Amino acid sequence: MEGKYFIKNHDEEINKHEHIIFTFDDNTDLRYHDTRKFGRMNLVLKKDLETVEGVHKQGIEPIDDKLTKEYLYNNFSKRKLPMKTLLLDQTIISGLGNIYADEVLFAAKINPTKLGTSITLDECQKIVDVSKEIIKEAIKCGGTTIRSYTSSLGVTGRFQQNLKVHKRENEECKDCHSIIKRIVVGGRSTYYCENCQK
Ligand SMILES: [Zn+2]
Repeated sequence: MEGKYFIKNHDEEINKHEHIIFTFDDNTDLRYHDTRKFGRMNLVLKKDLETVEGVHKQGIEPIDDKLTKEYLYNNFSKRKLPMKTLLLDQTIISGLGNIYADEVLFAAKINPTKLGTSITLDECQKIVDVSKEIIKEAIKCGGTTIRSYTSSLGVTGRFQQNLKVHKRENEECKDCHSIIKRIVVGGRSTYYCENCQK
């Protein structure tokens, strides 16, 4: 959620939020910085990887070629749950959080409350395409920085400037000028355009 990695020289002072440090031969460190300590790390032998809780049930990442419309259709169409909830299910797609799930549904023109049971194969293809696009663009921008992570180190992502719906309640839709709404789906704040996402 808030965790970030930084590359620093080994002799640089350790920040109180740097919880794990990997030191390399060239005197640099890869430091894991996690203000809210939501991150989890396991040190395991490769042969035991599957025994780590969560790893074996991890879904497919958006940028993985294995993420196909058929895969999504098989996973969504049997479940009577809102699409917003299904997109956040890390055992289906791994790595879409609350922000990107809203953005993916907006770009795919799918209403967040639409049930998985009524999703079509075409809509699944749309989700595949826009997820890849959005995640690639977000990586290029260094991620999305909202609210709490002002970064003691002055490093912020820039993708928040590209957000079309997330955290834009009562603002105009960038595509149709309708007003963006906020609802709660599966306990999570959800932003969408009623007009674009029918
Ligand atoms: Zn709209």
